[in-house]
Amino acid sequence: MTNILVTGGAGYIGSHACKALKGAGYTPVTYDNLSTGWEDAVQFGPFEKGDLNDRERLDQIFAAYQPAAILHFAALSQVGESMREPGLYWHNNVAGSLTLFQAAVEAGCLDVVFSSTCATYGDQDNVVLDESSARHPINAYGSSKRAVEDILRDFEAAYGLRHVIFRYFNVAGADPEAEVGEFHQPETHLVPLILDAIDGKRDALTIFGTDYETPDGTCIRDYVHVMDLVDAHLQGLKWLEEGKESRAFNLGTGSGFSVREVIDRAAAMTGREVPTIEGLRRPGDCTKLVSGSTRAVSELGWSPARSTLEQMIGDAWRWHQTGHYAK
Ligand code: UDP
Repeated sequence: MTNILVTGGAGYIGSHACKALKGAGYTPVTYDNLSTGWEDAVQFGPFEKGDLNDRERLDQIFAAYQPAAILHFAALSQVGESMREPGLYWHNNVAGSLTLFQAAVEAGCLDVVFSSTCATYGDQDNVVLDESSARHPINAYGSSKRAVEDILRDFEAAYGLRHVIFRYFNVAGADPEAEVGEFHQPETHLVPLILDAIDGKRDALTIFGTDYETPDGTCIRDYVHVMDLVDAHLQGLKWLEEGKESRAFNLGTGSGFSVREVIDRAAAMTGREVPTIEGLRRPGDCTKLVSGSTRAVSELGWSPARSTLEQMIGDAWRWHQTGHYAK
């Protein structure tokens, strides 16, 4: 069986990717420091606890498993936190990725699928982004991911480190079989927060800003089902296996939903009220982030078929009611 090193495999997206990799006949080897992930989420292959900045540990892992490729998910990913503590983002995301890539090159593992973000584009109101849009991040999270993209470009030129970069928009939903799902501690993401507010796990959801220049005044995001996102990663892996050129792909649906639309849909689907408070804008938030995914659709054959609000909220709600992880 082919080993694939999955950094951040104990996290939300990484754990779903491990399930899909196993289903496709690979062995996912999770490398995760459990700073935000959960050992309970590692169900589909071996687990190796370790930090991206621990070069010695990484060298051991490459030697032990000889992975054919890396799916690199491990990162801090909260916009608000990145504005308060940018050093954490430069250390963990940028220095950590640099250490990982240096270890990979030395071990001869030269294929990387990297989780990047639409936050690399910054605030480009009312523009449907494509991969050639300028990258002008407005928060430290986006800056850290842009820097890693640039490292990949330079490492390809110097050492032949081939890569597929996926720029995610907003990810939501859960494994339809509810074996794994979205669980952060503390939670900061919209859909799980709404579900917590619905079932009384928190008092109310604060809407971050109601004075944006959007039809209902709240921010618009392009939400993609986590299983659709994971499909793209398997297609990205295949792309590299086939020896194709390094490439960046946006993964969006081309249509966005406002914060209020997500809240209203969750209320309608669960038949319960979502208690809300109208709060201030969150620093670093863009008004609208929506992407076409023409390139991923035409070149990878990607299809975000599960990315309807109904399926994302429905799968997230099922997981929310049945699943959880313990430290
Ligand atoms: N949001 C909100 N209240 C919350 C959490 C998020 O209004 O408690 C909004 C946030 O401002 C953004 C959208 O929901 O417009 C999605 O935020 P999330 O943190 O889930 O993802 P991000 O867009 O930061 O990647």
